Amino acid sequence: RRGLADLPPIVSDTLLALIAMVNADTRANKIDVGVGVYRDGAGRTPVMRAVKAAEQKLLDGQHSKSYLGGAGDRGFAKALRPIVLGRHSGDERIVGLQTPGGCGALFLALKLVAAANPDAKVIMGTPTWPNHPPMIAGTGLQITDYRHYDPAARKVDFAAMAEALEAGRPGDVALLHGCCHNPTGADLSEDEWRQVAEIVARRGLLPLIDFAYQGFARGLEQDRFGVELLLDACNEVLITQSCDKNFAVYRDRVGCLFVKAVTLDNAKFAFTHLLQISREAWSMPPDHGAATVRTVLEDEALTADWRAELDEMHARIRMVRETIAGADPRLAYIAAQQGMFSMLPLSVDQVRQIRETHAIYMADSGRANLVGIADHDLERFCAAVVETMN
Ligand code: PMP
Repeated sequence: RRGLADLPPIVSDTLLALIAMVNADTRANKIDVGVGVYRDGAGRTPVMRAVKAAEQKLLDGQHSKSYLGGAGDRGFAKALRPIVLGRHSGDERIVGLQTPGGCGALFLALKLVAAANPDAKVIMGTPTWPNHPPMIAGTGLQITDYRHYDPAARKVDFAAMAEALEAGRPGDVALLHGCCHNPTGADLSEDEWRQVAEIVARRGLLPLIDFAYQGFARGLEQDRFGVELLLDACNEVLITQSCDKNFAVYRDRVGCLFVKAVTLDNAKFAFTHLLQISREAWSMPPDHGAATVRTVLEDEALTADWRAELDEMHARIRMVRETIAGADPRLAYIAAQQGMFSMLPLSVDQVRQIRETHAIYMADSGRANLVGIADHDLERFCAAVVETMN
């Protein structure tokens, strides 16, 4: 008999090990740029004002927590459409389903592809968010990878990307980061997005846009540039959205999968599949976070306040990037990248050294969550990185 003792070893997520190391360090001045959450100037990850107000409204007005059904809060997916889909929000061939976070949306999207076309390969740039490869493998789909990031130029290796997409077969999935590439911060330019949309459409690929950081790169409208272009160019598109970052509701698990199909009937049919897949996995998505986001978006004043606070977060991301970029010419590229993450020019040994000498914690790859640094630590952080690079 084989039992639980026979479970194979797993390759542990090194970021989780890093969190344990940060917690074990008793130095008062430690700086954690490992974990990927937004922090304000004081080093906190606060509940956003509009979210708090919406939660209060929910608390006062909610008289039942009875089941909502497999689609969860339909008003949530509807309210998100103009934000995520922009000029395509009225397209009825796009259906949206509430999911437990961006992860839930990715899981559903990959399972949907595997059900429709099990031979599809997922064309994926590297490095990527460490959860992408196991999630793809978990649905039985194969990965074809290419180099997304050129570490010497500190930019997207666009030639490699274009070549990989050109080599895709019709029906293969093009996994794209909507904005704020994780872990590199290296996003496509508008012109590169146009080229990607052209290749993806011409080769008959299925774009899967992972859209977890809308509002953190250039602003809410600008950040959906690639999403809108691919919706212009392609009849079938998958968008895995997360509100966990831009509404700062991480633990409430708020996401949405948008699926564009060729016809209205195809879209409705795909939706029934999504309900079936999610029924097997989680039955119904958790309500509270999505209901909160809907409550914000259905209220003009709360929406305005949410947008104002999101803009403040965006401004802080820019400020931190500019400050680090100004510390040394070798860090100047940081200002040209987007979102919370960039790869610092440190070797694995230097990452260990900066941890031991300066109590600064980052992934072995040198990926750092730059807004993890509180204002009062910024100068010390820059000095430590420059000293360690030398
Ligand atoms: N995609 C990317 C690129 C991410 O960085 C994350 C979050 N770290 C997700 C998806 C998943 O987000 P969520 O927490 O909403 O599941």
